[in-house]
Amino acid sequence: MNEIGVIGLSTMGKNIALNLADHQFKVAVYNRTYTNTKDLLELSHINIKGYEQLEDFVKSISRPRKIMFLIKSGNPIDELIEKIVHHLDEGDILMDGGNSFFEDTGRREKKLKEKNIYYYGVGISGGENGARFGASLMPAGDATIYPLIAPYLEAIAAKKDDDYCVRYIGESGAGHYVKMVHNGIEYADMQLLAEVYLLLKAQQYSNIQIGQLFSDWNKGPLESYLLKISSIIVTERDPYNNAFLVDKISDAAANKGTGKWTSVEAIKLDVDASLISASYYARVFSNKKNDYGTIPKSMKRLELNEIKKAYYLAKIVAFIQGFNLLKEASDRYDFKLKLKDIAHIFKAGCIIQCELLDVIEAALEENSELIESPLIRKLIITHKSELKIVDSSAVLAEVPIVAMSCATSYINQLCARQLGANLIQGQRDYFGAHGFERVDQEGAFHHDWTKR
Ligand code: NDP
Repeated sequence: MNEIGVIGLSTMGKNIALNLADHQFKVAVYNRTYTNTKDLLELSHINIKGYEQLEDFVKSISRPRKIMFLIKSGNPIDELIEKIVHHLDEGDILMDGGNSFFEDTGRREKKLKEKNIYYYGVGISGGENGARFGASLMPAGDATIYPLIAPYLEAIAAKKDDDYCVRYIGESGAGHYVKMVHNGIEYADMQLLAEVYLLLKAQQYSNIQIGQLFSDWNKGPLESYLLKISSIIVTERDPYNNAFLVDKISDAAANKGTGKWTSVEAIKLDVDASLISASYYARVFSNKKNDYGTIPKSMKRLELNEIKKAYYLAKIVAFIQGFNLLKEASDRYDFKLKLKDIAHIFKAGCIIQCELLDVIEAALEENSELIESPLIRKLIITHKSELKIVDSSAVLAEVPIVAMSCATSYINQLCARQLGANLIQGQRDYFGAHGFERVDQEGAFHHDWTKR
């Protein structure tokens, strides 16, 4: 009998099936369109068996069955559940490894529990390579059955410091929530790197110089998967004309929604994730841009170390905002998230894996509120001048670095003695009698502002 099943054999499912099979698990595979199944079977992996009919696929797996979905999120998941549920038995376990919205996952879990079928939302990051050779995994669902699926998840997980990048996350949609926030941080770091690239271009650095710089930075505390691939992307040649390929790619970024969900969630929970939202908006803007723009003005050369330190601090702000959102969600939804575990999961296999996560993990050890950690405070103090210099120079030269500007504003707010909110309270009390608190007396106050 097969030990586990994988449904959906596009980029992720095919590679996860191969990863499981390489770890000596007997894997059943199924795809709605059989040609994809046939393509995988042509690789003749001894541990993979393919099925044309969903029922045959299900019956080939030993009970309690473990079946992972890697298909398009949204309605296709509900349609698949509808089709498969008749073939399942009590105690079987379904795992959704796609980017589903956490509320949908919670709803599905609840509904299937009525039939004594377990449903796990498994956030997976790492793209094609991670799926094939070790991903970062965020599983959540009924804790009592986690030991039944842990061996499979650990087998396909990346490893960091000899430890798997997978941990039981919590109940219900907690795993997809963590994956959503992971993607929000991913949007932020991608945007920040795009802005660093834009800044360097505006200072007349060549693609080769930018690639070399990224590659040098990648050897120190800025080391990250995204920096590494960016160093390759900026220097890759166009197969058609030997120019740099990146210069021929349309200046309009697509998105599949997880950055938007993170932003909406942050607003819902009153958490400042402005840098993450700015990164999402930057993608939206890039698709609406008309031709009224001109070539960026050339700007005076900044010290490379200034740009490096500015990027580092802005990236810290992205992590602060992402982890603040996780902390708040943990309280509001009773997810009981272990933030240090999450920092560990992100350290290898996933798109946001980076050296900085060691710092984040150490800071979380000091204080679960990252901003209260002495380690983070020290980094803010030692890097904020450079962030301000880089941001203000870019603003004057009209180089749009929206995410970095958000980081500057966030740090300025953190360090400010006064935010001007007292005037807002005065305005609210003037037109709506909303009341205010005073700095010199306890209690709630209202003032008749019109009596002069
Ligand atoms: P896609 O998101 O491109 O989805 C394609 C797969 O979904 C195909 O197997 C397709 O079957 C199947 N499918 C679509 N609609 C249905 C349906 N109604 N019923 C049954 N099957 C259906 O595949 P990916 O491999 O890229 O991603 C899978 C999941 O993993 C997605 O949720 C994605 O967001 C997530 N993810 C993707 C990553 C990536 O790097 N690609 C990284 C991390 C997560 P058919 O062949 O018959 O059309």
